[in-house]
Amino acid sequence: MSRCIFCDIVSGGAEASLIHEDAYCSAFLDLYPITPGHALVIPRRHAVHLHELPQAERDHLFAVGYQVLEAQRSAGIGWAGANLFLNDGPASGQHVPHVHLHLLPRRQGDGRRTLIRFLARVASLFGRPCPRSELDELARRVRSGFSPPD
Ligand code: 5GP
Ligand code: ZN
Repeated sequence: MSRCIFCDIVSGGAEASLIHEDAYCSAFLDLYPITPGHALVIPRRHAVHLHELPQAERDHLFAVGYQVLEAQRSAGIGWAGANLFLNDGPASGQHVPHVHLHLLPRRQGDGRRTLIRFLARVASLFGRPCPRSELDELARRVRSGFSPPD
């Protein structure tokens, strides 16, 4: 059995609130969101670092990430702004050792709350998971505005 939680999500062995899936990647909501609607895009292939992925899969990951950003905006979240980041390997503060691009919708005036949650994350404090029903409802909204990249 796999011991990587993101590989388990890809294989369907672990629950996730999905936004998009295709031959090379999967996008779903973060279980411990830093901001509401925080999404992750991951390659289906297990890789710890970006450089372990074939270039086409790396490019596809970022292309899907951009489409998720658009879908978040059309769902009414993140229209004011967003943070995109990727912790590339354990030395960079990566907690789940499987490549993932973070997309954090932002609101005007949410700076203090976001900074506190971000700093807690750097200290490996995750807090309580978001209820699955909330994540599923938000994922449904984002999914309905998602278009795959060309
Ligand atoms: P990292 O710190 O590795 O860049 O980010 C890992 C992310 O995965 C964190 O934002 C964390 O909340 C999220 N995460 C950890 N476990 C799970 C899980 O089981 N399901 C989902 N959807 N996200 C997870
Ligand atoms: Zn994995």
